[in-house]
Amino acid sequence: MIQSVGQATPAKSNVPVGLRGRVSFNEPLARHTTWRVGGPADVFFVPADKQDLSWFLRSIDGVMPVMWLGLGSNVLVRDGGVRAAVIETHGALNDLHRLSEAEVWCDAGVPCAKLAKQCAKWNLGPAEFFAGIPGTLGGALAMNAGAFGGETWRHVVEVETINRRGEIHRRVASDYQIAYRHVAGPHNEWFLGAQLSFAPRSETIDSAEAEIRALLKRRKETQPIGEPSCGSVFTNPPGHHAAKLIESAGLKGFHIGGAVVSPKHANFIINEGSASAADIEQLMAHVQAVVKEKFHIELKPEVRIIGERREEVS
Ligand SMILES: Cc1cc2nc3c(=O)[nH]c(=O)nc-3n(C[C@H](O)[C@H](O)[C@H](O)COP(=O)(O)OP(=O)(O)OC[C@H]3O[C@@H](n4cnc5c(N)ncnc54)[C@H](O)[C@@H]3O)c2cc1C
Repeated sequence: MIQSVGQATPAKSNVPVGLRGRVSFNEPLARHTTWRVGGPADVFFVPADKQDLSWFLRSIDGVMPVMWLGLGSNVLVRDGGVRAAVIETHGALNDLHRLSEAEVWCDAGVPCAKLAKQCAKWNLGPAEFFAGIPGTLGGALAMNAGAFGGETWRHVVEVETINRRGEIHRRVASDYQIAYRHVAGPHNEWFLGAQLSFAPRSETIDSAEAEIRALLKRRKETQPIGEPSCGSVFTNPPGHHAAKLIESAGLKGFHIGGAVVSPKHANFIINEGSASAADIEQLMAHVQAVVKEKFHIELKPEVRIIGERREEVS
């Protein structure tokens, strides 16, 4: 059994017997986040499938915290890392199939871009907005990710979840409170997949694919795509655009260490190559303070900050 580890490195002999997925220890999370920063996870697990995941959860010490990661495109992992078992769904839970004329099943580890492309092939929509979201469906469910007027939870019929004891449940969408980039539901349950509903369409696959290309082109023109970032760092305050507030505050191009406010899109913070998570977190705090001082508006992070600062790790 993997035991609660505190600051210590867990021994490999503690791996539950019979796991088919990949377990590693002290796994650098910078390899698993789009900002390319973040210290190590005590335990890192990529399950072979749902049964393997269930066995892992049942086998690990009940006090060890569990954290979930999709493609790491909306998390800032601090430099001291994470004293928990981190479960990565990407590359693991990847079933995507059509259930009926208008409904599909999508596992949590499926990239949103794949969902968008497959829906276009099936003549189902509108799912094009998923194309430019560089995360998994699990992350999109957790964040209620959205773009260009589309939003994940508008399409959710049911979700499949797993709890800390490895028990699998089905929940209907009305079991969750949904708002802009906010999802609240049963405590200590995580998403394994979802039944999603779209409208069957008469347009050809070519027009859906053209729409995807057009949306990706718009992103490329307005966002620093291809540079290490987490997309929009702050949510839009009611009645305002975070990017406009940050730009109006004169913060485009402002640096702390290797982190910079993107000159292309002010709500993006870019890792220029040498940034630490601390640089990014300090830059976020600076942006919040300046915007508060100038406009009396509080910017709230959209990105999830997890783990410990380096100085907190002995
Ligand atoms: C260039 C760029 C552009 C972006 N554009 C957009 C955009 O247009 N719209 C938008 O909404 N977002 C956007 N994002 C942010 C991000 O892609 C989304 O929030 C995405 O949904 C996160 O998915 P992920 O798999 O990467 O989640 P992660 O970053 O891995 O995780 C995010 C949160 O979800 C939780 N989580 C992950 N998987 C599960 C699961 N299976 N069950 C429960 N919780 C889980 C994590 O614990 C964490 O709290 C962008 C990011 C980048 C880098």
